[in-house]
Amino acid sequence: MTVAAGIRLRTEIPGPTSRVLQARRTEAVAAGVTSTLPVFVAQGGDGLLVDVDGNKLIDLGSGIAVTGVGNPAPAVADAVRAQAELFTHTCFMVTPYEGYVTVCEELNRLTPGDHEKRSALFNSGAEAVENAVKIARYATSRPAIVVLDNAYHGRTNLTMALTAKNMPYKHRFGPFAGEVYRVPASYPYRDPASLTGEQAAGRATMQIENKVGAANVAAVVVEPIQGEGGFIVPAPGFLPALAAWCVDNGVLLIADEIQTGFCRTGSWFAMDHEQVVPDLVTTAKGIAGGLPLGAVTGRADIMDTVHPGGLGGTYGGNPIACAAALAAIETMRSRDLAAAARRIEHTVLPRLGRLAERSGVLGDVRGRGAMLAAEFVRPGTTEPDAGPASRVAAACHQAGVIVLTCGTYGNVIRLLPPLVIPDALLDAGLSVFEQSVLDLAGRGV
Ligand code: PLP
Repeated sequence: MTVAAGIRLRTEIPGPTSRVLQARRTEAVAAGVTSTLPVFVAQGGDGLLVDVDGNKLIDLGSGIAVTGVGNPAPAVADAVRAQAELFTHTCFMVTPYEGYVTVCEELNRLTPGDHEKRSALFNSGAEAVENAVKIARYATSRPAIVVLDNAYHGRTNLTMALTAKNMPYKHRFGPFAGEVYRVPASYPYRDPASLTGEQAAGRATMQIENKVGAANVAAVVVEPIQGEGGFIVPAPGFLPALAAWCVDNGVLLIADEIQTGFCRTGSWFAMDHEQVVPDLVTTAKGIAGGLPLGAVTGRADIMDTVHPGGLGGTYGGNPIACAAALAAIETMRSRDLAAAARRIEHTVLPRLGRLAERSGVLGDVRGRGAMLAAEFVRPGTTEPDAGPASRVAAACHQAGVIVLTCGTYGNVIRLLPPLVIPDALLDAGLSVFEQSVLDLAGRGV
């Protein structure tokens, strides 16, 4: 089989061994848990996954923005091994350990703003967001939480309420937690061209004032670049204006940096690009090189209001996850992975722009750092077109390149390569994507 450099296809995708495992999986795993690509993984690499049939696939998804440092990053594998030999768990609420404290120190240093901060560790992104909401309500004694159109904050009961999209995240899972209010976001491609970021923020805050009343709002929760909603970069000025309104009204700003954080967008955190300093920041995903860890970091005066024992959980800040996080952060620092993300943007975004012009099926290409996307529309219109996005994703998968879809309308393909991906693999993966889009558009190469 002729394949792009770096890709090795020994069988069709999925191969025979994957299909046998898939049959077992169907008998054992709940049907509600699905996979983008039913290829069972045997081994990872920097930008590659090897499956159980010996096929090598280029990974432009990083397990949904998790393995930016590599899969595994050697330092993360070493740290996990070393910690597992010492102890695997004590529960930080029973007997503490240094790794937890060091991760909190790193988070306090790295997140936006040089004010005094505190952190608390959890197991996942959704758990971090839940706890940020708990802390915000406690600190302000106000009930309401405001979220944006296209938002994604998780799948637990409270975070489903915060998440915008019904299918597949919320459908038939209600009733949802109360006191959650949704207002318009900034979506430059779909907003009127004349709408500035400041005006988009004004549109949101006017609705908050009318529908909820600023005095009732504990926090506005915002993704600095909306992730599952479609990799939507808000118009310049939107986030600063929203932040200023929060300050004026005693409302806390919670930045959900779970997908955008840890160098993904070319800076430690995406809020850095807008010089916005949130009151609370939630992190997870890229923080620990693939180990499950989530965190809330925020102003010390807010974080420390909660009564002793009010925050925690059996596994939150597990010692192996903390060791992995420290190794992952050190890898980001020593390899300057923020700069690597910026280089990826400079390689990929112009190519996506040219592809949009040539193919006629991409209404918008956008993103920051190594968080980039192409939005499919019916040619000549801005009408979302989900079918081609999923057909292109499927064609990429068949050709050995893992890409993911997203978007409120399901019409966006997102590229989330590991930050350590070698140039040749990135180039090969992109070529497959470009070819698939051109084939779909009937344009040939
Ligand atoms: N918040 C954002 C912005 C996310 O992208 C995600 C996951 O995609 C979450 C929260 C939920 O994180 P988790 O899946 O770890 O619960």
